[in-house]
Amino acid sequence: MKRLLCSLRPDEICPSIYAIDYKRLWGAGYRALIFDIDNTLGEWGCRALPESAQAFLQELSARGFVVGFLSNDGGKNRTHLKEQLSSWPVLWHAGKPRTHSYKKMLALLKTQTTETVMIGDQLFTDIWGAKRTGLYAILVAPVSPASDSLPAKLRRPLERLVLKLLSREDPPHDHTDDR
Ligand SMILES: [Mg+2]
Repeated sequence: MKRLLCSLRPDEICPSIYAIDYKRLWGAGYRALIFDIDNTLGEWGCRALPESAQAFLQELSARGFVVGFLSNDGGKNRTHLKEQLSSWPVLWHAGKPRTHSYKKMLALLKTQTTETVMIGDQLFTDIWGAKRTGLYAILVAPVSPASDSLPAKLRRPLERLVLKLLSREDPPHDHTDDR
């Protein structure tokens, strides 16, 4: 049980992708950022990202980070979104928390586990898969909890319980109140 809890433990918790201290990550040697898409960059199922999100991703690339995306969605009917992300590698049907797509993305980005960060809104997919792969993992609050898929909605209470258990032992660095 304790081992399972450890592999669900995010290294950091942040209110959004914009609140992450990328300068500190760079200083600590991280060079690659892998993002989840739904409810991490935009609402769940969005056909397009907010322009601010696309601009922000471009800025991170300009700062030297290599960027990639892992989504458990199939990407169907998301043409505009695909165009917005066309400068970066995206793996759809990623099957998170299984590790194969994380490993494939590391190969695409030509990066090592020790210099790569996974950023996502779900503990049981994004974070669990990242920890199993050996990546630094940052949990962000969902962009719009109301837009969550039904399975995600059902998992949220369990996520909160796990975070509560984790915070009792070795709390992840929580930046939620840094705003
Ligand atoms: Mg998500």
